[in-house]
Amino acid sequence: MARIVQKFGGTSVANTDRIKAVALRVKKAVDAGDQVAVVLSAMSGETNKLVEYVTTMSKLYDAREYDAVVATGEQVTVGLLALALQDLGVPARSWLGWQIPIRTDGVHGRARIESVETEEMQKRLEKGEVCVVAGFQGIGPDNRITTLGRGGSDTSAVALAAALGADRCDIYTDVDGVYTTDPRITPKARKIDKITYEEMLEMASVGAKVLQTRSVELAMKQKVRVQVLSSYSDEPGTLVVDEDEIVEKELVSGVAYSRDEAKITLVAVPDRPGIAAAIFGPLADNGINVDMIVQNISQDAQATDLTFTLPIADLDRATSTLQAQQENLGYRELRADKNVAKISVIGVGMRSHAGVALRMFQALAEKGINIQVISTSEIKISILIAEEYTELAVRALHTAYGLDAD
Ligand code: ADP
Ligand code: ASP
Ligand code: MG
Repeated sequence: MARIVQKFGGTSVANTDRIKAVALRVKKAVDAGDQVAVVLSAMSGETNKLVEYVTTMSKLYDAREYDAVVATGEQVTVGLLALALQDLGVPARSWLGWQIPIRTDGVHGRARIESVETEEMQKRLEKGEVCVVAGFQGIGPDNRITTLGRGGSDTSAVALAAALGADRCDIYTDVDGVYTTDPRITPKARKIDKITYEEMLEMASVGAKVLQTRSVELAMKQKVRVQVLSSYSDEPGTLVVDEDEIVEKELVSGVAYSRDEAKITLVAVPDRPGIAAAIFGPLADNGINVDMIVQNISQDAQATDLTFTLPIADLDRATSTLQAQQENLGYRELRADKNVAKISVIGVGMRSHAGVALRMFQALAEKGINIQVISTSEIKISILIAEEYTELAVRALHTAYGLDAD
């Protein structure tokens, strides 16, 4: 007997038939004697629709009301699954974030979980009741509904698994595991049996949407055993594990991409101490996270160009913040570019090997793809390119690092 958390994403609960199939899968675990808590997303497409309602209603919307609206998708699916389970003779009850409660900070739209109350749930699980929990949502310090950022029900599931001391957290989705790259980009992507928390964290943070970044962060910190697997098959999925559980360390274990990037170049910025702080300070104050940064050494010790990337969703706000400061900052021109993508290669084996970046540059050169910005960390290299080359670059790198399936 085990205590498990099973999370089902949007496509797995896309309609009432799929929800019935989820109920059968949950019943199987219950029949095997397991205690089961389930975390659900909204039906696929539902959250996008809700976000669109909000932005249509109000361009500069109040984030509290955004949360009140976009959290509703999950209320529908948890109620429906509880009904489907009851009809199969499995005792089940639905739970919204505030009913548990899952307490979060007050950062509406991308709140962080601070605590999960489990006393009542533990009692019910021990009696054999299935707890069906709405993912993606919690309750803030002012008792208002919060949401955890897009893809946040992965994080709900991991947080619940940690709080319940669950033996496993199974993330059921529409692919049967974590692949060497997004299987939608190349059929040559290979399923990875085991991936380290660190690699998964990097992959998620540079764009592999299969797990929300924060869910991996939390799993790593709380030592939650996470498995990614398909809700359509019984194949084993991908286990996310500690590095010492992996014998053969791949040089590169995956290639990821993100089209959610934009690039800003400030032309002819005065080259003086304090200028970077003067530029990035107001952006940080506005909650805008800057990612890759390049600054050239000025030729004449007078002025230089500064380029950086940021989430495309923040581009308009960043542009207006910097334009308002143009006189004060003294740059000549601001150039914004949405037509960029970030491509990254990730692998713990990079720590001990040279030449990994060179292979990346050569592979892109062979395809005639120009690199605009480069950034590296211990186990990752990222480059920025024109967006239209995303697929070509991902496929070329997948081949160059020997990741292609036979
Ligand atoms: P869910 O609705 O179940 O949470 P998501 O759409 O959030 O599902 O995540 C699953 C998707 O992640 C897959 O359909 C796949 O296209 C995408 N994906 C991106 N990178 C990877 C990767 N490296 N391995 C597997 N899937 C990936
Ligand atoms: N339904 C939410 C979203 O679409 C949360 C999730 O699916 O994880 O972002
Ligand atoms: Mg998801």
